[in-house]
Amino acid sequence: MNKALYYSNHDFNRAGELRESSFDEPVSSCQEEQLVIPVWHNKFFFKKEGDGSFDKIPACVCQQSTQTCFLGLQDGKEIICVDVSGMELSAVVSKLGEVDVCELLEKGSDLPKKQASLLAFARGIVHWNRNHLFCSVCGSETTSIQRGHCRQCRNEDCSRLNFPRVDPAVTVLIEHQPKNGDPLILLNLRKVNEGYRCSLFSGFMEIGENFEDAAIREMKEEVDVDVKNLQYVNSQPWPFPASLMVGLTAVAETRYFKVDNHEITEAGWFSALEIQEMVHNKQLTLPPNTSITGFLIDAWLNKKLVCQAVG
Ligand SMILES: [Zn+2]
Repeated sequence: MNKALYYSNHDFNRAGELRESSFDEPVSSCQEEQLVIPVWHNKFFFKKEGDGSFDKIPACVCQQSTQTCFLGLQDGKEIICVDVSGMELSAVVSKLGEVDVCELLEKGSDLPKKQASLLAFARGIVHWNRNHLFCSVCGSETTSIQRGHCRQCRNEDCSRLNFPRVDPAVTVLIEHQPKNGDPLILLNLRKVNEGYRCSLFSGFMEIGENFEDAAIREMKEEVDVDVKNLQYVNSQPWPFPASLMVGLTAVAETRYFKVDNHEITEAGWFSALEIQEMVHNKQLTLPPNTSITGFLIDAWLNKKLVCQAVG
């Protein structure tokens, strides 16, 4: 189950030792030995059959970047991302040529995993910089250092160093194993048109919890289910904007559940056969296979995910 999910599986070297520098200089032009990823309000520019990065980029685009972040090294080239959100979209597009502009999630599995991982990193680090322009302690402006991986407070009496944070969240596949009959999983349902979209149950971790604690609390809050036998399966970076999703399985002893009517409005127990039939009849849409939720459901449907029985 250690299969690398979308947005992980980097094949580049983060080269943390190259981040050490004094205050970051704005990039005046992109150099030959750099691969540049422009980011505009969380969106990327894809050349026809492109991957969101550019070998050469006009200097005027780099000069108007409000933030530059060093991502790492690939094939001897530095990979950097430049935040061009301060420019008019039409101005960026006119410099880059024939491009599509879209969010990373919109690309889904059309993008090779390795590119998706790189762009996810770019999206997350640019978003963090844009949202930490002021010190969380004294409110003074911050300055980007360590090539986009740290922001230091400009107030000399404070000088706090702010580092990027990741917000972990758990997502749980809950199975019930009847004495007679096929195993069932509890799906979170959302009505769309003639059918439903489904997902699992998820929530952010709180301070002082481990993964299991958070899963037990969230399942109780959202569907009033007491879950047991929690098992870690896999995890996935989810920088939309700043999460890490941790996938677990759990078992419920009974079929009782009650939705909270707040975060969850409909849910239901389904066997693998029922899910497959509903998907076939277009009554149910599964989560995309680029998400850990989609991965967990798919693995369970294909009997690759075995939940430990209670008892
Ligand atoms: Zn400060």
